[in-house]
Amino acid sequence: MSRRLVDTLGRVVTNLRISVTDRCNFRCSYCMPEEGMEWLKRNQLLTYEEITRLARIFASLSIYKIRLTGGEPLMRKELWQLVAMLKKIDGIRDIALTTNGYFLAEQAQRLADSGLDRINISLDSLDPLLFADLTRRDYFRRTWEGIEAAEKAGIHPIKLNVVLVRGVNDGEILNFAELARKRPYVIRFIEFMPIGKDDGWVLDKVVSTREILQTINSYRPLVPLPHVNGKAPADRYMFADGKGEIGFISSVSQPFCGDCDRVRVTSDGKFRTCLFSLTETDLRAMLRGGTSDEEIAEALVNAVSKKEEGHLINRPEFIRPERTMSQIGG
Ligand code: SAM
Ligand code: SF4
Repeated sequence: MSRRLVDTLGRVVTNLRISVTDRCNFRCSYCMPEEGMEWLKRNQLLTYEEITRLARIFASLSIYKIRLTGGEPLMRKELWQLVAMLKKIDGIRDIALTTNGYFLAEQAQRLADSGLDRINISLDSLDPLLFADLTRRDYFRRTWEGIEAAEKAGIHPIKLNVVLVRGVNDGEILNFAELARKRPYVIRFIEFMPIGKDDGWVLDKVVSTREILQTINSYRPLVPLPHVNGKAPADRYMFADGKGEIGFISSVSQPFCGDCDRVRVTSDGKFRTCLFSLTETDLRAMLRGGTSDEEIAEALVNAVSKKEEGHLINRPEFIRPERTMSQIGG
């Protein structure tokens, strides 16, 4: 039987998140500080060829889904070329992108033509002023144009990622619920997680899935939908009248670690078996040090066998990773 990435709990890893850059043109307050970020140098980032070689090795194990992320992945030059390279790999069936949307107005069509299957666009407010407050950039209009460009390019589904922070944008819940009904966008509420140094996270600021569900249900009733492939992470709902889909990623209030099928490679080529990992495997050193594909595959199998059982956010022994979300790849 061919080798697979499987851990001691029997979880088979099928889903790879690849960060292509740690840089970003936004400064979302829950993700990174306004100033003082130190960026990786160009030669520290994996090249598209290195990423493709790694993806081929992952695909020879059990990975069939890839998501490109960052930092802001579309800040990397001609990202559609990487999409096209990954698309040619045998066994890769699904390529997705998570982006802040800023560059989509000019790039959505080329990404679609290169084979991008799905897209998640972050949008934390429908109010341009609040959006500017949250992202520390006055880019609402461009982001919105980017979302419409993705729709026009035929990328489907389009999911809008919304992170609510209590006292900041928790008044936006029903605006997003209405948007899900009016436009062909799936709304994904993601609970605010403690990650990185200056994210300002305290449990009180997390707006839980339960609260959001209550707010939406008292406006219009929702009915649950089945999990995609029978598994978390997202709990999905639609409105009882059949209009609009809303999903919830309840990483803090109801962790889905037992079902976790994902691993990550950072833009500097470090392999992480959990978003909250405290250890990493240096794949870049292997790629550049003459290590064979077979030896890299062996290292991946070994690392996954030690995949963390789950994150410890709600426990006193929780240790926040040093890297910000943008440096790991959200
Ligand atoms: N720049 C792209 C974007 O914003 O979509 C991709 C990278 S970003 C780190 C990926 C996702 O992580 C975004 O949807 C963002 O909202 C989410 N994110 C960042 N920091 C977070 C935090 N502390 N808790 C929950 N989600 C977070
Ligand atoms: Fe940039 Fe995305 Fe982080 Fe916002 S969430 S600062 S857009 S990487």
